[in-house]
Amino acid sequence: MILFKKAESLTNYLRSKRNPGLLTGFVPTMGAIHEGHISLVVKAKETCQLVVASIFINPTQFNNPDDFAKYPVSLEKDIDMLEQAGCDILFLPSVQEIYPAGYQPEYYELGTLETVFEGAFRPGHFQGVCQVVDRLLQITRPDKMFIGQKDFQQCMVLKKLVELKAFPTEVVICPTLREAGGLAMSSRNRRLAETEKEAALEISRQLQWIKKNIKEGPFNELIAKSKNALTSKGFQVDYLSVARMDTLQEVQAWDGRQQLVALVAATINQVRLIDNLILND
Ligand code: AMP
Repeated sequence: MILFKKAESLTNYLRSKRNPGLLTGFVPTMGAIHEGHISLVVKAKETCQLVVASIFINPTQFNNPDDFAKYPVSLEKDIDMLEQAGCDILFLPSVQEIYPAGYQPEYYELGTLETVFEGAFRPGHFQGVCQVVDRLLQITRPDKMFIGQKDFQQCMVLKKLVELKAFPTEVVICPTLREAGGLAMSSRNRRLAETEKEAALEISRQLQWIKKNIKEGPFNELIAKSKNALTSKGFQVDYLSVARMDTLQEVQAWDGRQQLVALVAATINQVRLIDNLILND
């Protein structure tokens, strides 16, 4: 695996490798690599001859400075795991490489995508996500970008970004990898004590319960019960809602046809976890 720290060197290298028979796959991450990230690299390797991953903890997407300061870092282990997974190139830029002097953030027209759910609870978050991914896509110009369904709303935002900026990149959404008990893998799980990890199993349990029990018509009671189950495990629930998969518009009743997704964000002992489940696949 080749490491690049400079954007220009990486762009030049990738340009030199470019040819019609070679597909480049890109996996952006913030590090603290786990099997969920690795599954994206593995997926990329299935169709791309050159796989590039990046590790960059993007300051502009953290609305909470404490969350940024506490974001886990494990660079040596990350490098080992990515190399073992067969990643070809790792981009490890500094903040100055991504946001050089004179960088002017643009405003991305995300519409309601940035005002609901994560957008409502983390103002400015998705503008920050677009800023960093815009820069990373300009630097790497990949044929495909591999991202995780774990961050369902982010997937929709990044598809929108690719469309807005007309990047020649296919966005490939990969399934959420979970621990044995069902907890969605996340870098933030490292900050959970064992008892909190145990409590966190309730998140995926409740998503599964909603999937199993949702029926045509109003389902407010179902959601209220699930929320209570999380609260009683010690969670503060930002949202636990059901939305249309195509627009992320929240719905309170199912018409029996709409494709729905249940989305949740909940905090335990200052660790904020998110998860989601498609309800009718
Ligand atoms: P992060 O480092 O948390 O910003 O995540 C980098 C990429 O990995 C994003 O596309 C995430 O959606 C994806 N990802 C994070 N956790 C998982 C998971 N448990 N399963 C699959 N992909 C994931």
